[in-house]
Amino acid sequence: MMAAVAAAEKGHQVDLYDSNEKLGKKLYITGKGRCNLTNAVDIGDYFDSIVHNHSFMYSALYSYTNADFMAFLEKHGVPLKTERGDRVFPASDKSSDVISGFKAALKHNCCRVYLNTRIIDLLITNNIVNGIVLENGDMQSYDAVILATGGKSYPSTGSDGNFFQILEKNGHQITPLSPGLVPINTKEDWPRDLQGLALKNVVLTLYKKTPKGQKKVKSMLGEMLFTHFGISGPLVLSLSSYMVGNTKDYCLELDLKPALSSDQMDARIQRDFLKYQNKDFGNALGDLLPSKMIPVMVDLSGINPAVKVNQITKEQRKKLVACFKQLRIGIAGLRDFNEAIITVGGVNVKEVDPGTMESKKIKNLYIAGEMLDVDALTGGYNIQIAVSTGWLAGNAVK
Ligand SMILES: Cc1cc2nc3c(=O)[nH]c(=O)nc-3n(C[C@H](O)[C@H](O)[C@H](O)COP(=O)(O)OP(=O)(O)OC[C@H]3O[C@@H](n4cnc5c(N)ncnc54)[C@H](O)[C@@H]3O)c2cc1C
Repeated sequence: MMAAVAAAEKGHQVDLYDSNEKLGKKLYITGKGRCNLTNAVDIGDYFDSIVHNHSFMYSALYSYTNADFMAFLEKHGVPLKTERGDRVFPASDKSSDVISGFKAALKHNCCRVYLNTRIIDLLITNNIVNGIVLENGDMQSYDAVILATGGKSYPSTGSDGNFFQILEKNGHQITPLSPGLVPINTKEDWPRDLQGLALKNVVLTLYKKTPKGQKKVKSMLGEMLFTHFGISGPLVLSLSSYMVGNTKDYCLELDLKPALSSDQMDARIQRDFLKYQNKDFGNALGDLLPSKMIPVMVDLSGINPAVKVNQITKEQRKKLVACFKQLRIGIAGLRDFNEAIITVGGVNVKEVDPGTMESKKIKNLYIAGEMLDVDALTGGYNIQIAVSTGWLAGNAVK
């Protein structure tokens, strides 16, 4: 939609096709229906939140910034507000208002919109695109084509990855596609026993197994959630995007008390053990853990819950400290594309001009949005990536 508006503003006649019965089906469900449409941080700070190929995004983000996008929406009748973490939402809390803003801009610029119209191929002669083929067999000629057919996540919204094969057939390389910003199935059963429990201010660290041991990939502080299949919540979703290749090569470590060093944790446990010296171990962790988690931690520590705390050895306490500070969580796999907020992988950015979004393989073909091998953390960055690359593509059409 942004690409169409940008091209029309340059004076081109634009036809916009969507296989869905309405525009913005994925936008509608973003931000839990509220659409976290961008992030108000300084545009220079965006790059820390882009997980893959952030340097490809310099031109796009500086050419069409978050401030530009916010001004665009406000101009088209969508008042905005900024919340915690600089996340920007429509003031109404309704994602449908963002879609209405785009529709108003499309109408204002006389773009023709064709719904329920699936494109199944490109017309290409001598590596120059000159049209499209529709599902009903019709061929339409165009001077330029901008593709923004999305990734593979939430395929029910229309972005089912169908265009990756078409591009591959025409010489583009598609880097491996995997679900991103997605919950994780755990190897162990204990996270499932904690289903429904949310932990705040914990640190989760992702490690990759190497021939020499393991390498730290990323560590984050925040909130996580236990579910019927394993783990989810903001920390888990973010770390999932950093797993490339075989997820079995990764594991997680949970620090339940990041404000305390291991020595301080040990001292804290000793203090509690003194306070509850006549209690059984199973009844002595109430000051340190949510009640649901106590039986699980007791089990993981290997200490008999019936033993009196004053009988617990230094060695046993050390193991308990490790459970608080370095709790291992094995990864059985990621949940699938149906639950993924974003697709990791896509059109190889080396084959796309970062200053115009034009394909380096097929002239007059432009590629924008989640189709590209670029993805970011939650916070409004992914929609901004889509609109910045869309705007650049529309603006670059000759
Ligand atoms: C549940 C959920 C919540 C999210 N929340 C946020 C959020 O709050 N903030 C944020 O920044 N990001 C969020 N995202 C990510 C964000 O929605 C996407 O990154 C963004 O929509 C990508 O835009 P796009 O235009 O590239 O692709 P899409 O929005 O996926 O649009 C692609 C369009 O192409 C159409 N299409 C596909 N194939 C064809 C074809 N062959 N012919 C014709 N049309 C076709 C589809 O019907 C679709 O309408 C969320 C994603 C999900 C799934």
